Amino acid sequence: MAGKSFFIDTTKCTGCRGCQAACKQWNQNPGTKTVQRGSYQNPPDLSAATFKLVRFSEETDTPGEQRWLFFPDQCRHCIYPPCKMEADRTAPGAVILDPKTRAVIFDPAVKVSPEAFKGIREFCPFDIPRHDEKTGAMAKCTMCFDRVGEGLPPACVKSCPTGTMNFGERDDIRKMAQKRLDEVRKVHKRASLIVPESVRVIFLVKDYPEKYHRFASRGSEVGVTRRTALRRFVDPLARAVRS
Ligand code: SF4
Ligand code: SF4
Repeated sequence: MAGKSFFIDTTKCTGCRGCQAACKQWNQNPGTKTVQRGSYQNPPDLSAATFKLVRFSEETDTPGEQRWLFFPDQCRHCIYPPCKMEADRTAPGAVILDPKTRAVIFDPAVKVSPEAFKGIREFCPFDIPRHDEKTGAMAKCTMCFDRVGEGLPPACVKSCPTGTMNFGERDDIRKMAQKRLDEVRKVHKRASLIVPESVRVIFLVKDYPEKYHRFASRGSEVGVTRRTALRRFVDPLARAVRS
């Protein structure tokens, strides 16, 4: 199981959104008009023009105190991507695997009908894919496979000033993530890595994943289709890796 992986250590994230801006710049995605919604998170969600979004959650566990939980959300580049399984059936060629990095990529030249897109999005355990209604293509993080192919890190990793965003060979990244988890758990007993055996984008969170975002972990609130996809494609892999 070669290929690349990310380690996203949310305990180091300051919510500066450098990664979000760098992603827009590299992918030449247009800016999104934003409005004050009572949150520093902007825009409100991922879109065909926003592949990376720093989600902000305000925590008020301790009376009189507030804390931020930052979650730089993006495609997890699943080892066995449910989006591809569904796309192969309903929109052949729309989702491909980069042989070098194992990045999961949507082909912008393949048009996907709204009905097919609905199914593909529902198969994603993390609610990532978006549809460009103007072009008919799908859109999401590409792992910057074009940069990586030239020996450069993904734009979000290059821009992150805090060490939150890390990228490299999968085995090295898994070790890095486990080592950091062991350190963080000494202070934060609920800290965990989110399904590291099933994805190439491994998040470390210091509290329950659902406190960060409803789709932060596949175990969060998921629809019937997502549950089916998880049972069929992701859980068997996790069991095989553990056994
Ligand atoms: S996170 Fe969703 S869009 Fe990304 S590879 Fe996995 S199933 Fe596909
Ligand atoms: S650039 Fe790094 S510190 Fe800033 S929001 Fe992104 S992940 Fe967090």
